[in-house]
Amino acid sequence: MSAPPVPVGSAPPVLAVRGASMVYPGGVTALDDVSLVVEQGELLGIVGPSGSGKSTLLNIMGTLDRPTSGTVEIGGQDVADLSDRRLSALRGRQLGFVFQQFHLTDGLTAAENVATGLLYAGVPRGRRRALALEALDRVGLARRARHLPQQLSGGERQRVAIARALVNRPVLVLADEPTGALDTANGVAVLDLLTALNREGTTIAVITHDRDIAAQLPRRVEIRDGRLRSDIRADAPADVGPPARTESWT
Ligand code: ADP
Repeated sequence: MSAPPVPVGSAPPVLAVRGASMVYPGGVTALDDVSLVVEQGELLGIVGPSGSGKSTLLNIMGTLDRPTSGTVEIGGQDVADLSDRRLSALRGRQLGFVFQQFHLTDGLTAAENVATGLLYAGVPRGRRRALALEALDRVGLARRARHLPQQLSGGERQRVAIARALVNRPVLVLADEPTGALDTANGVAVLDLLTALNREGTTIAVITHDRDIAAQLPRRVEIRDGRLRSDIRADAPADVGPPARTESWT
């Protein structure tokens, strides 16, 4: 029997973090009662100074860490209800990750690196290669498919890593300082790419402590000392806390 149709407007958010806190062993409270809902199609920046809890929040959003308290739902599913095996399957199918240092495998070509994003999805080998080439094409690197990471520039490596994150058509891409290891021009190119992918429908959350990058994002969530300080959409007033000030983050 097929499932009943979902009424318009009732789809659960892509991701919902509710009242999440994280206290690391040793007693550091890295996150304190943070709630955040990400809707389909958003491009969201998580901003704030070093040590404020951004990576901790991203790791919780990406189900890489479980919060000490609070809940994380992906597509309405509370991930605390899942076994580790089911959770890693959900992560492999629904989430894509981009890291500051790219995390590409040296001995593999660009296409092979991208195809590793499909390993947990049960996709046959030939199809993996076709999808990898398609994803490389989306990031403008079809002609670099046979290159090894060390034959690529930093900006190109990050685009390969973005292709790997996209290859499985995830519901959400999580990027942790994706421009942090790049010079300004390559950083701008990566941001432009993420913006273009978002316009094509990919939901993206990106950590940055770069104010210029943050200023270009349609939604900015600011974390300070583990707490949500503001949540600002480009066209809307702040709905949490006082308006952002212009002081430096670093
Ligand atoms: P950000 O990404 O904003 O730089 P983090 O989330 O990495 O911040 O860190 C927030 C706080 O939690 C910092 O005080 C950091 O030292 C601490 N922290 C992060 N990871 C761990 C860990 N695994 N164990 C203990 N403390 C940690």
